[in-house]
Amino acid sequence: MKEFRVIVNEVIRIGIEKKITSKLRLRNELYPSFKNGFHTSYINMAVFKAHALLKAYRKTIKKNPNAKPPRVWKDFLIVDSYIYKMFDNRIRIPTRPREFVILSFNSYTSKILSQPNLKFGNATLTHNTISISFSKEIRKKEPSGYVGIDMNLENATCIDNTGKVTIFDMSRIVLIKMKYRKILSHFTRNDARVQKQLKQKYGRKLKNMEDSILHKASKTLALTGKQIFMEDLGGINKLYRKGNGQGTWYRFRLNSWSRFKLQKMIDCKSNLHNGFSVNYVNPKGTSSKCSICEEKILEENRMIRCPNCGLHIDRDVNAARNILARGMRFVPDAVQGEAMKQSKDVEQIVPSLLVDGTLQANRIATLVRERQ
Ligand SMILES: [Zn+2]
Repeated sequence: MKEFRVIVNEVIRIGIEKKITSKLRLRNELYPSFKNGFHTSYINMAVFKAHALLKAYRKTIKKNPNAKPPRVWKDFLIVDSYIYKMFDNRIRIPTRPREFVILSFNSYTSKILSQPNLKFGNATLTHNTISISFSKEIRKKEPSGYVGIDMNLENATCIDNTGKVTIFDMSRIVLIKMKYRKILSHFTRNDARVQKQLKQKYGRKLKNMEDSILHKASKTLALTGKQIFMEDLGGINKLYRKGNGQGTWYRFRLNSWSRFKLQKMIDCKSNLHNGFSVNYVNPKGTSSKCSICEEKILEENRMIRCPNCGLHIDRDVNAARNILARGMRFVPDAVQGEAMKQSKDVEQIVPSLLVDGTLQANRIATLVRERQ
């Protein structure tokens, strides 16, 4: 692995010095000095990796002429898919000509890898991990229904086209994050070393805990086989960074649990299980407009009231309904969203999937009450 890293850095150096951009020429420059004792494929892979890094570097240098040339610091190794072999929970990786290392997988990994119809790609090794990329042929299924998901500070509220509400509570993540933050804030500047260690330790724990909660939620959602609609959060974390005029506390709260991560997980799992992706909708006004008549709403104690049509429901459910309604505009045979928007007549505004607006609203309100 160390040698591999050295080669990658060497290719980068050659590439910059001699201003070579073609992969083939990079390889020809390198080949004579390394061909003995190295699997040819590794040289190709090193060139491949270095070429990608160089390409990115040329792009950055256009914007910032002082950018540092890329350099790989961590040992790693990319193994081409045709030179490793997998058999009985093990992987055999050639090192030098006629020399191999054999690594075995745990039962979970081998279960995943033994699924039918997998196509394997490159494997990447580091000192303590191995990742094997694979793709799976998935027949695109027809969605069994539609769900809108509103992700707010405390939870992810989902509503489907039959009006069923499901809530994934994320407050545990927020609570534990707050606790850790408090513990860490008790240290003074002098404890920098201890503080750093603690931060790493808590950081790892926190990540594991958050990941397991998010994995569970995303799996449950994907397995319903429904088409999922979510807000396009594009850059939400950027929005709440330092220097945007918001207080530290406010920022902390908004970045409290990783909505972006959950979106990525849901999207990935929906593709894996159902063969279709999540659809993203414009987030503007989803939490400030009535989900029946699009009038501006009044909020009191987590509940919203519409001054126009009198809708009175949980604010997260209202937002989720707005997201669902926006998402339905993607669906060809559903009621067209634009027509819904222009009309001011309540009867027509209610999308047909919600059958009867008021009835549905009451049902949701009851559901919410039952939950509390
Ligand atoms: Zn209304």
